[in-house]
Formats: sequence, structure tokens, C-alpha cells
Amino acid sequence: MQKKLEVLKKHLREVKDLEAVVAVLDWDQTTFMPEGGAPARGRQLALIARLAHEKQTDPAIGHLLDDLEPWAQSLDYDGDDAALLRVARKDFDKAVKMPPAFVEEFNLHCAETYNAWAAARPANDFKTVEPLLEKTLELSRRMAEFFPGYEHIADPLIDFIDPGTTVGILRPLFAELKEGLVPLVRAITEQPPADDSCVKGFFPEEGQLAFGRRIVERYGYDFTRGREDKSPHPFTTSFSIGDVRITTRVKEHDLTEALFGTLHEAGHGMYEQGINPAYEGLPIADGTSSGVHESQSRLWENVVGRSRGFWEYAYPELQTVFPDVLQDVSLDAFYRAINKVSRSLIRTDADEVTYNLHVMLRFELELELLEGALAVRDLPEAWRARFKDMMGIEPPDDKDGVLQDVHWYAGKIGGCFQGYTLGNVLGAQFYAAAVKAEPGIPAAIAQGEFGVLHGWLKNTIYWHGRKYTANELAARITGGGISVAPYMKYLREKYGELYDL
Ligand code: ZN
Repeated sequence: MQKKLEVLKKHLREVKDLEAVVAVLDWDQTTFMPEGGAPARGRQLALIARLAHEKQTDPAIGHLLDDLEPWAQSLDYDGDDAALLRVARKDFDKAVKMPPAFVEEFNLHCAETYNAWAAARPANDFKTVEPLLEKTLELSRRMAEFFPGYEHIADPLIDFIDPGTTVGILRPLFAELKEGLVPLVRAITEQPPADDSCVKGFFPEEGQLAFGRRIVERYGYDFTRGREDKSPHPFTTSFSIGDVRITTRVKEHDLTEALFGTLHEAGHGMYEQGINPAYEGLPIADGTSSGVHESQSRLWENVVGRSRGFWEYAYPELQTVFPDVLQDVSLDAFYRAINKVSRSLIRTDADEVTYNLHVMLRFELELELLEGALAVRDLPEAWRARFKDMMGIEPPDDKDGVLQDVHWYAGKIGGCFQGYTLGNVLGAQFYAAAVKAEPGIPAAIAQGEFGVLHGWLKNTIYWHGRKYTANELAARITGGGISVAPYMKYLREKYGELYDL
């Protein structure tokens, strides 16, 4: 059995290596590649992705997994080999259930839709993408049908990025959250708005980048196994546990863009850098779900990076970087500015309190589209009405309404958005558990010491890679399941104080 396991590992490493090659090509394309490289890069990416898919669906992997199955059953659930076999089985079944012809049709359709959307959004023209989106919906339904036995048609689609999470789990969770958030948003927005002019001054790029990098290095992001570059949209990418890269984008008239983007991506990066090195090259060397991944980016960006304690430590240093703009701005004024809550149109610009309402809107619409309860042609109107109902303002156009996010126009409909909100919920839950285990964490953060928190997260979450699902991690860490209570408590305490509620 050990010998078969070694053969299987060799196959799996080749799959992961090919995927890493795709990631390198992708990273280069979005950071440094000159425009002239685009046609050849597209071809190269398509070739390597095809080879990776062929390797991943090689029947030899299936035979090895079948042979190893009885032995796998006898292994301790918490062991590394048992986890690897669980994960490899799941990946293989997923990969072989979708016929290559379907995958190709889907990818071609996504590329076409993305190009149409890139032109339609600035032109505020939903009509052009409407027929394409109808096809996307049909393909998304077909994709779900390759995984029969689901309770809700969105379940198999959610399972791609949040394994084990279902509509049955998410609906009550989101309903409870919405019930808490809507009155909180109302109470906050009845107060005078926070003044955030102090973060809208002029902040030269160099100073912004250097400051952000100093902070994430102190957080524990390892620059000997990573780097930060600029890209139009910030992201994190991993080529191996020893090479996890982040990107950011800078606005010289908005301090929050690069800074919080860097803190966010570093959270993703530390997760990937913290995986058990014994997993290198294997499919378990990855974050376990989009929700858990996002829990780490949000934790370091918001729970730590937008906290009063953190800025007690970091603000004097920031003032020395930008003395012209900040020397006369008090810590309190700065803290209020970076935690300004407002009803706004764009999800990616939204604050901590309103953010999840943006996500829930998309989640509900996705489900209704998949269920057939909502037609694509009625989507813009449904968006406007629902948005107004939830947020209290109406999007003036589709550009900043139904056309704002790339997700539906570059991939499937279903399973795209829940991870963002799960991340907020889990982030607060994990942080509360960390502080319970190590009560000195908040005081340490106010001193600029992040090692205890980082160490706790590494041991309980990062190290395990994909060994445990999000639900298993939540159960191991908190003794219960995913719960919105710690997140609502966090928001109520923080914003209750900030807005004098
Ligand atoms: Zn993220």
C-alpha cells in the first residue's frame, strides 16, 4: 500500500506542478507582461491548463485511489495520508464527472462573456450581455446536474469553493445575519457621517507601499517566501509553500486602497505560507475553502488592521511617513475615518457593516436564477428593487448595479459570493477563539506584537491545509459549528462605541 501511495503522490505532484505553472504564467500576465505578450500567453495558458486537466483525470489516478480505498478506511481520520486520500478522491471525482467537451464549451463561453462584459459595463449596457448570461445560467444548471443527489441545485456549485457548505446551511445563517445587520446599518446611518477627509489627502506611492510592507512583515508574512507587486486587481497566488505572492494597487489620493489591500492579501498569503511543509506539492497544500481563506484576509485586514489597539501602535509611525497630511490629525479622527460606515453602491468599496448585505443580495439572486424563479431579463430590475429594500438607496444605473461584479460574467452563476460573508463570520469566530485561548492577544497587538496571534492561527488553521473542511475546523476550534454570534457581537461593540449607539 505504501508503494501505491508513493506512486499516487507522484501523479498528484505532477498535477499540482502543472497548476503552479499556470499560476506563474497568470501572475506574470497580470503584473509585468508587456501587452505584446498577450496572444502567445493565452495559447500557453490554455495548453498547460489542458495538460493539467488531462493529468488530473488520468484513469491511473482513479485505479490507485480504488486500490487504496480499503486501506484509507482503516487509517486514523486525523492522519496526513488519510486526509490526502480524502482530498484526492474528492478532486478526482469532481474532475472526471464533467466531460472535457463541456468544460471546453464552458471556458469558451466564459471568455466570450467576459469580453462582452468588459465593454458593456462602462457603456451601462445590460442588453448586450443578457443572451450570454442566459447561456451562462443554462451551463451552470448543466454543471450542477453532473453532481446529482443534491438538495438544492446551487449545492454542487457552492461545493467547488466551499466544500461541505450547502444552501441549507447558508440560508438560516444569512437570514440571522441580515436580521442583525439591517437595524445596525440603520442606526449607524442615522448618526452624522464620519469624516474621512484625512485619508483622502495626497500620499505618495513609495511611502504607502513601504509602510504596508513593514506592517505585513511584522504580521508574519514572510518576504523570503513571497513578494508584493502591483496589479490592477489585488490578489494572492501560490506557486509552492515557499513562494506565495501578493499584489496591491495604489491610489495616491486614497490611503486605504493599498494599505488595507495589502493587509488583506497578506492574510491570504500567511495562510498559504503556514501550511505544513510536509504537504508540499500535494493537493492538501492549499487553503481549505474560500470562506476560511477569506476569514484570514478579513481577520488581518479588519479585526486587527482596523482596530483601535493596532493603530495605537501603528499610527505614530504612519504620521512620520506622511507628516504633511497626518501630523495634525488625531488618532481618534483617523480611527473613525478608516471605519466610516455608509450606504454605498459598490461591494468592493463597502465597509465592514454593510459589506455582507451586498453579498446576500447576490447570493439570493443566484439562487432564484438557478431555481428558475427569476429570469435573466428581469435581473436588473430585481437587483434595483432588492438593493433599495436592503440598503435604502437605489442604483442609478446597471453599471453600478447588476453589471458591477465580474463573477457572473467570467464564470458560473452559483457559488460565487458566499465565501466573502462566511469569511467575515468565521474570521470573527476564530479571532474570539484565539483571544479565549490567549487572552494577551489584544494587548500584544497594541504593542505591535503579532506573534502569538499568528502562531495560534498557524497551529490551528494554516498548518492543516485542506485536511479539515471549514465546518470541521469551526467544530475543532469552537466546539460548535459556524455561528454568526461572535461576528455580530464584534460589530455591535466596535461600531456601537464608534457611533455612540
Ligand atoms: Zn480575499
